[in-house]
Amino acid sequence: MRVVVVGAGYVGLTTGVALAHVGHKVQFVDTNQSKIKLLRTGKSPIHEPGLDELINLNAQRTEFYSYIGEYIGAADLIMIAVGTPPKTNGEAETRFVEEAVTEVAQQLRDGSTYTFVVKSTVPIGTNRRVAELVRRTLQGQDIDAKVYVASNPEFLREGSALKDAFYPDRIVVGAEDPAAIDALRRLYRPFLEQTFDAPPAIPRPEGLSLPPLITTDPTSAEMIKYAANAFLALKISYINEIAGLCEKVGADVVEVSRGIGLDPRIGPGFLNAGLGWGGSCFPKDTLALLAMGSEFGYEMPIVEAARKVNIRQRTRAIEKLQQGLKALRGRTVGVLGLAFKPGTDDIREAPALDVVRRLLELGAHVRAHDPIALDNARKVLGDDLDIEFFDDPYEMAEGADALVLATEWPMYKKLSLKRLADTLRGGLLVDGRNVFDPEEAKAAGLRYMGVGR
Ligand code: NAD
Repeated sequence: MRVVVVGAGYVGLTTGVALAHVGHKVQFVDTNQSKIKLLRTGKSPIHEPGLDELINLNAQRTEFYSYIGEYIGAADLIMIAVGTPPKTNGEAETRFVEEAVTEVAQQLRDGSTYTFVVKSTVPIGTNRRVAELVRRTLQGQDIDAKVYVASNPEFLREGSALKDAFYPDRIVVGAEDPAAIDALRRLYRPFLEQTFDAPPAIPRPEGLSLPPLITTDPTSAEMIKYAANAFLALKISYINEIAGLCEKVGADVVEVSRGIGLDPRIGPGFLNAGLGWGGSCFPKDTLALLAMGSEFGYEMPIVEAARKVNIRQRTRAIEKLQQGLKALRGRTVGVLGLAFKPGTDDIREAPALDVVRRLLELGAHVRAHDPIALDNARKVLGDDLDIEFFDDPYEMAEGADALVLATEWPMYKKLSLKRLADTLRGGLLVDGRNVFDPEEAKAAGLRYMGVGR
């Protein structure tokens, strides 16, 4: 199929490149000119394992544009994957989706058939609005094209986005018209039937079962995305709440998590206590869900509590530093990890940034290390004279009063605790992700504080 992907960000780029790999012709368009420039040279603007390689491998079937133009008229399917950031009242901003849809609709050709696919996470009713916007745009130009609209929420995880695109656990499509569902079934058939040659960098997992195609109405599809993200967020907040009580009573939350996660009704995923969740999705999607509820005067106390606990986790980390160092003014604190989770350079709503900002407010001098997110962090934090960025974690630790581990990058697990203990002035390690063994850390000479243990 000829596919146009509008928005070459984390979702659009990885999904589109996977679609090209299975044989579709994919044209990307993004208003960010520097992204498109970079992509034309075969380089990915985001860090995602295997992505550079796959962009180059499929260069024959991809094109990159910085403008919406005539070329769109020849497409079969238009996938909208632009951002939907939160507005000040918490609602998801759908302006970018609507602008993109209107501009695309202006390029459609008389007598042709198109399927619009809304991949961005959008509030309930947006697919209806998209259909209406297209209809009105076509009517205004006196163009007679057949247009179907489908909701196709995305569940990929940054850091394993390509793996999730090639080997999804399910594909959800919400549409009124069976023709839209048929178009998406055609689009995704290679993934549904796993008939493509697996890219070398993203091998097919052994024993993989074929993903089901879940077809439903657009409203339920829109809700599935929000309900899934809110559930994952609250699972983390739940274990974090338990972690706080573990600290009081003397239990170890890592043991508790293992003990409950083996129950198949609970499951082990998203049960790691720590600094809490961040990123571009959970914070904004839980907020948007609450905003949707409040439109109807409908309270959602569970989702609200998940957010509250999540914010408290950052405060708890600061309190631990205060417990260990007393006043933080004039202290030097090193932060290990800035990305919102390992495997990505995305720092949007990263818990680490909240910790950094609070430390700066409290008058501490902050040092920061991250294996790949330093450039992004410099762009948002770099102006503050009280923050220094380090390429080497040991160098960062030298002479610092304390370290806070904020992102569980695998490289941190391999750090020599003895070396850290020798170089840290204060010897205090706040392990915000329970990466280290408390006994080992203490034996190495560190004053260790984990989360819930
Ligand atoms: P992103 O910010 O990485 O990418 C969005 C891109 O759209 C940007 O490159 C931006 O320049 C471009 N854009 C904005 N307006 C445009 C326009 N009118 N025409 C062309 N390009 C335009 O965002 P993302 O993380 O890929 O998220 C996109 C959507 O997918 C959001 O709704 C998000 O909630 C959802 N989502 C994200 C993830 C994730 O892990 N990042 C996972 C599932 C769903």
